[in-house]
Amino acid sequence: MKVKLAKTAGFCFGVKRAVDRVYEEVEKGGSPIYTFGPIIHNEEVVEDLERKGVSVIHTEEELKQLNKGTVIIRSHGVSKHIYQVIEKQGLKMIDVTCPFVLKIHRIVERESALGKHIVIIGNDKHPEVEGIKGWSSGKTTVIESFQEAESFQVPKGEELCVVSQTTFNNNKFQDLVEILSKKGYDILVVNTICNATEERQAEARQIAREVDAMVVIGGRHSSNTQKLYEICKKECNDTYYIQTLNDLDVQKLLSVGCVGITAGASTPKKIIEEVQKEWQK
Ligand code: SF4
Repeated sequence: MKVKLAKTAGFCFGVKRAVDRVYEEVEKGGSPIYTFGPIIHNEEVVEDLERKGVSVIHTEEELKQLNKGTVIIRSHGVSKHIYQVIEKQGLKMIDVTCPFVLKIHRIVERESALGKHIVIIGNDKHPEVEGIKGWSSGKTTVIESFQEAESFQVPKGEELCVVSQTTFNNNKFQDLVEILSKKGYDILVVNTICNATEERQAEARQIAREVDAMVVIGGRHSSNTQKLYEICKKECNDTYYIQTLNDLDVQKLLSVGCVGITAGASTPKKIIEEVQKEWQK
């Protein structure tokens, strides 16, 4: 029996860097540790960190209640204002905002200071987009749908700077930009989509084509894992969506010639390895 494990399975670079940094801080011990929002959308990891003394804070109000400890900013990043609150409260800060997100903050800060109207292609409610908005010092609009792009209007002479949420669908981004471009505005477009998601999906599709059965590991509510499952299922009818090894009927799969494994962006390596080991016993 052969096993093909996707190289891109599990944490992307930005999430791995953030989670590793929290565990490093836990190892050091000392002052209370807080993360601004859950460090990752994975209950197991967040609960494990909680047991190790890491608390999650969700709002600016909660942040203002703190007067000692370390606040870790996760890979999604935060607005400029949150940095100021952390500083004002005299808290230690560890910033593990993904460098790809930091790049967007810098673009938005610079271009809005030059007077451009910032357009963010993305989901207005996503924490990454909330953070990006908080770096604009001028007009800012978030566009997610074709309808929003069609109805978008600014006064004549206003310049636009368009950026994207890092995980936005690349094709849809291009289509929305095309709609905006046709309006005849002076427009600077910076495609800030990170290719980690696309690479993971392309590899999963390729592996699913080559194997007899495919296992996709990830949280039930993880939208990127659901997407991976759909992609694999299209290529390989014998595809299984599991959260942990406990959900897998290993006996059933032991008779299969070749199994492929991939995992969503918030699936810890430990869970992936446990599944992989089943075929190496
Ligand atoms: S920008 Fe890309 S690498 Fe960074 S956290 Fe997001 S998906 Fe991961």
